[in-house]
Amino acid sequence: MTRTREALIIIVSAPSGSGKTTVINRLLEKMPGMRRSVSYTTRQPREGETDKGDYIFVTVEEFREKIEKNEFLEWEENFNNYYGTSREQVLEAVEKGEDIILSIDVKGARKVKEVFPQSVSMFIMPPSVEELEARLRKRNTDKEAQVSLRLEESRREMEAADEYDYLIVNEELEQAVEELRAIIEAERKSREQNSKKEEK
Ligand code: 5GP
Repeated sequence: MTRTREALIIIVSAPSGSGKTTVINRLLEKMPGMRRSVSYTTRQPREGETDKGDYIFVTVEEFREKIEKNEFLEWEENFNNYYGTSREQVLEAVEKGEDIILSIDVKGARKVKEVFPQSVSMFIMPPSVEELEARLRKRNTDKEAQVSLRLEESRREMEAADEYDYLIVNEELEQAVEELRAIIEAERKSREQNSKKEEK
């Protein structure tokens, strides 16, 4: 099948504890053709996380070396750990015309939008701050100080929600996934139509 449009870069941000990873994993099950950008991080893997599946886990030295070599499309220090998007992964998707989803924070999203203004950004909101706190505590993998840090950062991130193209409230998992899927399908169609118009 020849592609009639350019690759879609989808940015998804959400405060930690909003269920973002679950939403994205479920979305990827439903949309098998979609790539996921696997970020580099210096944080320790959580239980169940796999290297190269969830993140590419590296040491601080390795991360700094990659900064030096300009290997990141964007990178941030978050919760005392580094996180970065691989330039190579995104450019490869763009070159091949394959849609790619980036799960990154608000600052990272701003940078990617700057480089790729045609990207589509979505913000996933938890149903309430109380629910967010409950989810963060339930996860129980982070120490109390980390929970407080993340909660504070989450509040700050939610203030940036209106900078995004779309806002999704994760009240119920399947419904949130369906909303994301519908937005992506609609964006694909509208871009296909635009590129057809440009061809004429
Ligand atoms: P967590 O440690 O909970 O997996 O992620 C913490 C935060 O870092 C989340 O907001 C997540 O979206 C963000 N994050 C993960 N990967 C990247 C990345 O490559 N770049 C940026 N800027 N943020 C990232």
